[in-house]
Amino acid sequence: MILGALEAGGTKMVCSVGNENGEVHETITLPTDAPEKTLRQIIEYFSAKGIQALGIAGFGPLDLDRRSKTYGYITTTPKAQWEYCALLPIFKNALGLPVGIDTDAGAAALAEFELGAGKDVRDLVYITVGNGIGGGVIANGQIVHGMVHPEYGHFIIKPHPLDPNPDGFCPYHISCLEGMAAGSTFEKRWGMSNAKLPEGHIGWEIEAYYLAQCCVAALLILSTQMIVLGGGVMNRDFLYDMARSETVELLNGYIANEKVVEHMDRIIVRPGLGNDSGVVGALILAAKELGV
Ligand code: ZN
Repeated sequence: MILGALEAGGTKMVCSVGNENGEVHETITLPTDAPEKTLRQIIEYFSAKGIQALGIAGFGPLDLDRRSKTYGYITTTPKAQWEYCALLPIFKNALGLPVGIDTDAGAAALAEFELGAGKDVRDLVYITVGNGIGGGVIANGQIVHGMVHPEYGHFIIKPHPLDPNPDGFCPYHISCLEGMAAGSTFEKRWGMSNAKLPEGHIGWEIEAYYLAQCCVAALLILSTQMIVLGGGVMNRDFLYDMARSETVELLNGYIANEKVVEHMDRIIVRPGLGNDSGVVGALILAAKELGV
């Protein structure tokens, strides 16, 4: 089966051709420019590849309600030109193929659940800690959409007492997770990127405190079995252990499950698919659209 995968991001569009097993055969990257130009280039690429379906892992917010008139549209994005872009219908009409869609984090969660770290669990949360923060939730083997879809990056967290910017940097909220802990906050807070901030810097303790709050929410509210932390900030590997210990500390023994106390390393984990969760998720979305 030949399938197309589009990772539609705010700065770049990654187009890949692969199969239902998550194997990627080829990839091109295009800058996210004006919609007309960018969408035309993507359509040209996929038209020549003989794909049987396309899966989109998209930046949002997206309308994911299949009964809605605007199903598959980008909705109220701060990227003005893309606001109310009819992403899914445009590809469906131009390519004449089945097209599946979810958020980038939702697709990554699906990929980790089906082919990555979460192969042995029923419930999983995938959090991407990159320039922004997004989260996808799998419950009983299904991606959770609910009213819209989870917006994991924007729930309000408690500032660390040593944080010099306790309000964070989100234009919408005071001290939301993304505004406090996304990769883009490092430069603003410490004058240094997350790739450069040295290990042992107080900034990492603060970051771990914020990530732990997001893990605690996943464990207490969703009672999830696994939290996959991905995205560029998590390339600093020491952060996994810091986030785990901080999570155990914040829970303070409340959840009576030996895994929580002794094996947090089996709950808070690295992505099994490395940086490929998004593209693999889009391939799975394409396959699902064909009923595979
Ligand atoms: Zn926010």
